[in-house]
Amino acid sequence: MSNNPTLQAVRGMNDILPDEAGLWLWFEDTVRAWLEGYGYRNIRMPLLEPTALFKRAIGEVTDIVEKEMYSFEDRLNGDQLTLRPEGTASCVRAALQHNLLYNAPQRLYYSGAMFRHERPQKGRYRQFHQIGVEALGFAGPDIDAEQILMCARLWRKLGIRDVSLQINTLGDVAARHRHRGKLIAYFEQHSDVLDEDAKRRLHSNPLRILDSKNPAMQNLIAAAPKLMDELDDEALQHFAAVQEILRRHEIAFEINTRLVRGLDYYNRTVFEWVTTRLGAQGTICAGGRFDGLIEQIGGKPQPACGFAMGIERLLALLQEDGMSNPPPALDVYVVHQGELASNVAGVVAEQLRDAGLRVLLHCGGGSFKSQMKKADGSHAACAVIIGDDEVRAGQATVKPLRGGEQKSVALGDLPGVVSEFLK
Ligand code: ATP
Ligand code: MG
Repeated sequence: MSNNPTLQAVRGMNDILPDEAGLWLWFEDTVRAWLEGYGYRNIRMPLLEPTALFKRAIGEVTDIVEKEMYSFEDRLNGDQLTLRPEGTASCVRAALQHNLLYNAPQRLYYSGAMFRHERPQKGRYRQFHQIGVEALGFAGPDIDAEQILMCARLWRKLGIRDVSLQINTLGDVAARHRHRGKLIAYFEQHSDVLDEDAKRRLHSNPLRILDSKNPAMQNLIAAAPKLMDELDDEALQHFAAVQEILRRHEIAFEINTRLVRGLDYYNRTVFEWVTTRLGAQGTICAGGRFDGLIEQIGGKPQPACGFAMGIERLLALLQEDGMSNPPPALDVYVVHQGELASNVAGVVAEQLRDAGLRVLLHCGGGSFKSQMKKADGSHAACAVIIGDDEVRAGQATVKPLRGGEQKSVALGDLPGVVSEFLK
């Protein structure tokens, strides 16, 4: 026995094992086709970014920046780096750095791991995965609505039911400023009810107090001044137009004025798709408009809108519905015994692959019987069986693994016969 202690993955960071990975692959294929159906193009950014990017984009006084980021100093050169907690900041950084927005808006998407140091639990991990969708350089309510419609289509494609849509508008800078002043004054009047978190945020980010889950503060929060009362006409019209398009497409929604989102860069439309079937981690997709972010990261002011969905939560929902891993995609299992047969089997396997088939060549020896057991368990459609005597006769056996008669086939005819059988 080894004396080395077994090493484990970092807490909250999951291995996705082959039995589950098939579902991921199917999901990723479905999502790619769906995004292409709306003209979105793929972009891939690094996992590590300068810490300053996230502080500036997400906001200093947010859960993510205050307590969830994996930030560290690169001890080789002193750089301050952070594993990305989300993708929007990196996506905008990349678009600006490479001048993508110079003379055309961009519809972009990315997919990959995000990192947040949260308390791991069902649906909440320290490394998790998102599909992120960003429309950069678009001002109108049509794009906000299109992104919401897109989501609805994806839920239909995936067979996801029981998700509901909540929307809100956060207005623009001036309205938020007025609202902020009123909120601070209101909460100051009731400072005896505020918890420590709220007190700390009172002057830095009072809007986030509205997001508190503390039961003792719920009455206070319910009666707080409403942003809705401060909105100017333009923001209201934008919001009305988004709703109008949703109604035209018969997308049901609920206006939730308490939806503020945990990141500072949002303005105007925000939305979340929520299910009640995943316990507390019920938000599977969230997003909204971020018209100020591009300028904040150093670009010319340009409007934008986007959303991200959590892959683990979506797949958990699919698994709740009994969706399981599709069986491995394999056409042929090649069984062989004897030295001559083994050499020929290797050549036959390559010829079958040349014909476009998915082939598993048995490795590791063993009796015909034990190899056939493996072939049966492999989910392949048929086995090709090769023995020394058969090779000398220029033959092999093709055996269907899900019913049907086996037959002898000339070696040279194998690719054609097996392809025909699989049709
Ligand atoms: P929550 O309120 O659940 O913490 P959030 O507002 O922090 O979510 P966003 O930053 O909007 O989440 O990320 C978009 C989506 O990514 C979420 O709706 C969720 O599906 C998923 N997500 C966020 N954090 C995690 C996590 N730690 N583990 C798994 N999925 C996550
Ligand atoms: Mg969060």
